Amino acid sequence: MFSHNRRKLLQASGALVATGALSATTPAQAAAPRVVVIGGGFAGATVAKYVRMWNPAIQVSLVEPNPGHVSCILSNLVMTGAVGMSTITLRYDNLRSKYGVNIVADRAVSIDPVSRVVLTANGSRLPYDKLVLAPGIDFDSIPGLDSAVLPHAWQAGPQTLALKAQLDSVPAGGTFVMSIPKAPYRCPPGPYERACLLADSLLRRRRAGRVIVLDANSDVVAEPHTFHTAFQTTYAGVIDYRPNSEVLSVDWAGKKVVTNWESVPFDAANIIPPQRAGKLVAAAGLLGSDPATRWAPVNPLSYESRVVPNVHVIGDSQGTGQPKSGHMANAQAKVCADALVRYFAGEQPDPAPMTSSACYSPITATTASWLTVVFGYDAASGLMKPVANTLAEAPAPTAGHYKDMFGWAKNLFADSFS
Ligand SMILES: Cc1cc2nc3c(=O)[nH]c(=O)nc-3n(C[C@H](O)[C@H](O)[C@H](O)COP(=O)(O)OP(=O)(O)OC[C@H]3O[C@@H](n4cnc5c(N)ncnc54)[C@H](O)[C@@H]3O)c2cc1C
Repeated sequence: MFSHNRRKLLQASGALVATGALSATTPAQAAAPRVVVIGGGFAGATVAKYVRMWNPAIQVSLVEPNPGHVSCILSNLVMTGAVGMSTITLRYDNLRSKYGVNIVADRAVSIDPVSRVVLTANGSRLPYDKLVLAPGIDFDSIPGLDSAVLPHAWQAGPQTLALKAQLDSVPAGGTFVMSIPKAPYRCPPGPYERACLLADSLLRRRRAGRVIVLDANSDVVAEPHTFHTAFQTTYAGVIDYRPNSEVLSVDWAGKKVVTNWESVPFDAANIIPPQRAGKLVAAAGLLGSDPATRWAPVNPLSYESRVVPNVHVIGDSQGTGQPKSGHMANAQAKVCADALVRYFAGEQPDPAPMTSSACYSPITATTASWLTVVFGYDAASGLMKPVANTLAEAPAPTAGHYKDMFGWAKNLFADSFS
């Protein structure tokens, strides 16, 4: 499927068609098709790797300001001290050396979709035939919340260690308040997993404190059986779960969180703000004209934007209704990479793509649960829909699942970055 000959590939290149150079240009003279990817998380790293792997004649540049990617996956275990930052820090060396991805250590600041150029903070101009945006998420501001002081740690990195410091600061018998934004947000089970691990840490440190969970949703969003059981049995008397609790503001000096119906004092806190597509998605006009739109509308056959042609959006920024997970970002990246390779060969995208998501959640220091689902393209609606009977959660957290979690994460990290 991917052994397209070079002439066919060059003839189908958008750049050549656009300049009318097709008949006058021999393959040897013509420039290779150019793909620029913005953002080197699970989505961006995977699409860059797979486009190069499936057709090395396509030039791929990956724009990412950080020297490596710090994975949110397993980051709650850095908070508890079970693993170190090195376990979740993934480098771009293999993308460069094994697959020939051009790593541009810079931040993309704007896009000119007419001239098809990306501008970077350091003043570079990167021309593209196809652009893939994978910038992750952005956060709403909450009055009084300074995330440098009270880290949300929903983007792993320095904030992960700052959250660990919050946890370590809880005095004996103290109260840790955490909040969960309205769905959809990154990693549906992630906040409930964090609540369990906060409670587990307090118990193991014999601090007999409390974890108050303020959930803006009306019920547990993911793995309700697992988390209700954990809250009511394993962590009875420690976790105090309060649904329909939307954080309106934070009073840092007075150490209080104000919700839609109460004011909650804290010793330490973790407020996770409401989320939307990464900043550049909105700045590039990819959300369309409705200001209420938070995630980029795309065609799930190729992840091409429904608003701006030749720009594709994958990972947490896209708005197809599929869960926002690293596993899903990796799956979408492969569908997108396949569509790009086919596009440059003058072919249509796969008419029936499938994706999947898996999340492992540590529930205690030695047990974990899991959640999985498969999505398929529904031609009648043009949407990705869950495949019947594939949505499943582990019957109970076990030590075996805890061990499997590391194997699953290792595979996902390798498939995306190595
Ligand atoms: C606590 C927690 C636990 C989780 N557990 C799981 C799990 O068990 N399973 C699972 O599948 N998922 C899990 N996730 C979710 C997963 O981490 C995200 O869904 C995934 O990281 C999304 O990948 P992404 O590539 O879209 O975004 P990101 O990983 O956020 O990557 C975006 C990248 O874009 C870069 N970027 C942004 N703007 C620009 C710009 N202008 N120019 C250049 N680069 C830019 C950023 O630096 C970043 O590297 C978890 C998340 C959390 C918070």
